[in-house]
Amino acid sequence: MDDLPPTLTEWTDAPRVRRLNQAPFRREGWYVLCWLQQALRARDNPVIDVAVLLGNALGLPVLVYHGLREDYPFASDRLHRFILGASRDLAIGCERRGLACVQYVDRAAKREKGLVYRLAADAAAVVLEDQPAFVAQWQAERVAAKSGTGVVAVNAACLVPPAALDQGVGTTSAFRRRHEKAREAWYLWRDEEPTVAPYDGPLAYEPDRLGGASDAELDALIASLDIDHALYPSAMLPGSRDEVLIRLRRLTEEVLPAYAEARNNASRPEGSSTLSPYLHFGVVGPREIMAAIKAADVAEDQQQKFADELLTWREWFHYRARTMRVPESYARVPNWAKGQLEKHADDPRPELETLDALVHGETRDETWNACQKQYLIDGWMHNNLRMYWAKRIIAMTPDPQTGWATACYLNDRLSLDGRDPSTYGNLAWAWGDAAPGYRDNPIYGLVQTRTDRSIRERPGGPEWLRKMAAREGPRLQVPETPPVDPYLSEKLPI
Ligand SMILES: Cc1cc2nc3c(=O)[nH]c(=O)nc-3n(C[C@H](O)[C@H](O)[C@H](O)COP(=O)(O)OP(=O)(O)OC[C@H]3O[C@@H](n4cnc5c(N)ncnc54)[C@H](O)[C@@H]3O)c2cc1C
Repeated sequence: MDDLPPTLTEWTDAPRVRRLNQAPFRREGWYVLCWLQQALRARDNPVIDVAVLLGNALGLPVLVYHGLREDYPFASDRLHRFILGASRDLAIGCERRGLACVQYVDRAAKREKGLVYRLAADAAAVVLEDQPAFVAQWQAERVAAKSGTGVVAVNAACLVPPAALDQGVGTTSAFRRRHEKAREAWYLWRDEEPTVAPYDGPLAYEPDRLGGASDAELDALIASLDIDHALYPSAMLPGSRDEVLIRLRRLTEEVLPAYAEARNNASRPEGSSTLSPYLHFGVVGPREIMAAIKAADVAEDQQQKFADELLTWREWFHYRARTMRVPESYARVPNWAKGQLEKHADDPRPELETLDALVHGETRDETWNACQKQYLIDGWMHNNLRMYWAKRIIAMTPDPQTGWATACYLNDRLSLDGRDPSTYGNLAWAWGDAAPGYRDNPIYGLVQTRTDRSIRERPGGPEWLRKMAAREGPRLQVPETPPVDPYLSEKLPI
């Protein structure tokens, strides 16, 4: 960090920032490039703040860039519509903040090769995201390795950046203690204001500018792309800042007063915040959510329960993922659980299902189908259903590795909050992070199983499950077996 301007090295949030290469910052560059991959918000965004700090220190404007490829794993109307809606609001927010923001939507009619490298070549510095899962980390590392420009990565996902905590913490309770102690200091940061006019000089390409795009224009653009059109956007979870504001108001006024009890009732999706997709794509950050909660008149114990989910559990999985080369891998399942599952790999599997039946929620298990229809139709699943859903996949697939790949495939392809450190952390939990059970069951061994009793025994439970399982979803193209590690393709271009 020696060559960083003093304003940045002195910045109290320094553990948020990581130098990815040793290339110098080039004062002759035209701008500081702020490459957003997932943190699609204009304010309360540490990636933008670090870029602005650097820009101000170097006397250069900041160029915020967001690009969306056609060929990332699981590209679909659902993901594209959410992302581009959020990107549109990012552009509007940047303009209000006095920052230039340009976009690129990859398509046959406008193919830009190596665009990030070309933008970086004209930059004094590149500021990008420190994201531990899915394609973002490969892309960041590749740009840092190839670029002759200094690259820094900034954590925008967590309230407390993992690097600010003791390293090597091994249990959630130890992590919780440390995180709770560290939290307060991280509530205090403010948007950095740019002192240089927005960049309006030459660019390495003719940019897309989504800030002024209407819904119809976004839809037409998406319809023209070579992506999975059968997986339609989620009506429940539109991608926009307005939807975040609606959810924050609902959270403080309606959800939190009864959160601890209501969040366990799957037949009441309104019992939780439904903010996870917005957190995954960074349309909102944890600090803004906590500020809204602190400002509201809500009982302390309900606030604490919510903070435990949002801050302890979510940030624990980010912390864990940061120590793993491939957080998506089956290898992360604890050894004792892998041993149990593999010992029983040859057990008869009378409940085997095809991948097509699993994707479409057409298995012989009505409760599981009700869960899966939420992923298939809404692009989200209630927390209380996810553990049952995940554990049952082990019995419905031929072996534990295929089961893991199947769960990742269903979660990542369909759910708007998939492809996240919380996805793989929670799946690993279902596969055996919890303590071993006492019964050596077929297929599972000592890995704990889960029944649907708590869902079925609620008043109206069976009727609700029947209705949910019967919902009509999209018909998707499904391979015979799930792709094993689609995330590892180092060939994905940028
Ligand atoms: C098998 C399985 C798979 C899961 N896959 C994902 C996933 O792909 N993406 C994802 O974001 N969450 C995942 N979760 C965690 C959790 O189910 C969702 O975060 C939650 O249901 C989202 O709904 P909400 O926003 O209404 O949650 P709320 O109850 O309103 O909680 C607020 C926020 O806290 C965080 N949170 C809540 N529970 C957890 C948890 N168990 N772990 C980590 N963070 C949590 C989320 O960011 C959530 O948005 C999974 C859980 C299980 C058991």
